[in-house]
Amino acid sequence: MRERFWERLSLEELTSDEWEALCDGCGQCCLVRLEDEENQEIVTLSVACRLFDTRACRCSDYEHRFDRVPDCLQLTPARARAFHWLPETCGYRRLAQGKPLPEWHPLRSGDPAGARRAGVSMHGMAVSEARVPDRDYEDYIIAVMPCRS
Ligand code: SF4
Ligand code: SF4
Repeated sequence: MRERFWERLSLEELTSDEWEALCDGCGQCCLVRLEDEENQEIVTLSVACRLFDTRACRCSDYEHRFDRVPDCLQLTPARARAFHWLPETCGYRRLAQGKPLPEWHPLRSGDPAGARRAGVSMHGMAVSEARVPDRDYEDYIIAVMPCRS
């Protein structure tokens, strides 16, 4: 990876290794989100994708994720700009907005557990959707984001 690439290069210019390194592993993008059909609010649950390893706080089959979970989306520079539901701390979102990475980010701090230390990790915080019936989703709401359009 090129030296301090996150400060010098655009998302479009990154190699795949540099792109992957932007992820701090918080796991927040693996949470179930629902859109309210009436007001387009985005509701976030503390319920994670069935492929999410809630103890390790990461995808349990990252290589085959798109085959196994068809609605898992590949982040791209365009999506990093458009997905306003990504957390404010997400490295992709921050660079897409012209903001620096947080000081605790693994690339800056050298600490792979930086997101956990900063309190933004879903480590041990989420329940797998395999264990929560749809009818109970209301009990797991942790955030409601208003429509931005
Ligand atoms: S929200 Fe961003 S930083 Fe967090 S796991 Fe997803 S891609 Fe990585
Ligand atoms: S398939 Fe993996 S990367 Fe995609 S949302 Fe599920 S746990 Fe996250």
